[in-house]
Amino acid sequence: MVRDSDERNDESQLSGRDTFFPGVAEEEWNDWRWQYHNRITSLQQLASFVPVQEECLPALQQVIRNFRIGITPYYLSLFDPSNPHDPIARQSLPAIEELLHQNTGEDDPLREEGSPVPGLTHRYPDRVLLVITDTCAMYCRHCTRKRIMTEGAVRRIELDQMIGYIAAHPEIRDVIISGGDPLTLPTPRLEEVLARVRAIPHVEIIRIGSRVPCVLPQRIDAELCAMLEKYHPLWINVQFNHPRECTDEARSACNMLLRAGIPLNNQSVLLRGVNDDIETMRALVHGLLRMRVRPYYLFQCDPVRGSEHFRTTIAQGISLLGQLRGHTSGLSVPTYVIDLPGGGGKVPVGPMFMMHYDERAGRATLRNFQGRVFEYLDPERDPPSVADPGRIAGCDRQQPRDNG
Ligand SMILES: *Cc1c(COP(=O)(O)O)cnc(C)c1O
Ligand code: SF4
Repeated sequence: MVRDSDERNDESQLSGRDTFFPGVAEEEWNDWRWQYHNRITSLQQLASFVPVQEECLPALQQVIRNFRIGITPYYLSLFDPSNPHDPIARQSLPAIEELLHQNTGEDDPLREEGSPVPGLTHRYPDRVLLVITDTCAMYCRHCTRKRIMTEGAVRRIELDQMIGYIAAHPEIRDVIISGGDPLTLPTPRLEEVLARVRAIPHVEIIRIGSRVPCVLPQRIDAELCAMLEKYHPLWINVQFNHPRECTDEARSACNMLLRAGIPLNNQSVLLRGVNDDIETMRALVHGLLRMRVRPYYLFQCDPVRGSEHFRTTIAQGISLLGQLRGHTSGLSVPTYVIDLPGGGGKVPVGPMFMMHYDERAGRATLRNFQGRVFEYLDPERDPPSVADPGRIAGCDRQQPRDNG
């Protein structure tokens, strides 16, 4: 059923859950299995919740053939149907723009494919990235790994090969488990991966990258936390992109993970029309700190085919960071990074506070967050030494005496 706009205005008094899922029992709503099985995975289903223009259907079919649709009822309940530019909708609803710029961007700009072990990327000396599933609770329209979400794409997950590779490389001390979303795996399957990685003696820390606390927070239950905490030191990187995602449900999911001793860091993506203005960005990072989640990275949106409409300029990102640094808690300021196309890795591109540094003269010129300019001097090249007490006026300390 497609509702007309007058009706929607009346309903905007209600919560999204009341609007879209009236009559769903509390027990079902809070059960992640219900949330997962009732995901919106087709345009027909979508059209029963939000208006989908008839004439756009063929194009949208094309969009979701390229990049599948998946929205949890919980995430849909965060929509504001009265806002045609709703940032929650923008991250999750298929859009015609995904068909534009077909020649701009790449399928795999970060060159994650083509490594000797399928699904494993060993880009940095001491850490590896494992893609262990291509399933996500929600399919984000801005995803960097859009390529693995094409309808009918089959991905081989070669866990034995991945484990063998890590075991054979003693320099690997940090293993990042990603996807897709690893927390969509059945708990025993995820445990198998964690246990096998943990059994490798030189692996120090394990990290999981997941959007589940944001898009399917019900999945974070006691059973999952009890399993995860057996594999410490374990860290989880989450992805919240908008302050309206910092809900009571998300807060309680984060709280359970934190109580299981798992530090949480956020990796946002800078997205045009979602979080590319300072009010939204400030509200997001403050909302994260209130949930005890540390903003870690803000990613420049990668030039992925089908995501061009999400990209901002680098200047916009630098300007946002400049309006955070010094103006609010340092804890809330993420590192703004570009993941270099071509597989060059992540490079920080924050605002420059050091305007000039003459290393030979030992003199730096810096500006503070207000734009005021200061000088800073390096230590003297040949500083006085206590072994040479004559150089320190008023100090007659001698070499240590021999009391023998
Ligand atoms: C992002 C990433 C990492 C981890 O980078 P950190 O800066 O340590 O968070 C590791 N490997 C790959 C391939 C990555 O893309
Ligand atoms: S959860 Fe992560 S991997 Fe999955 S679609 Fe969203 S951004 Fe992509």
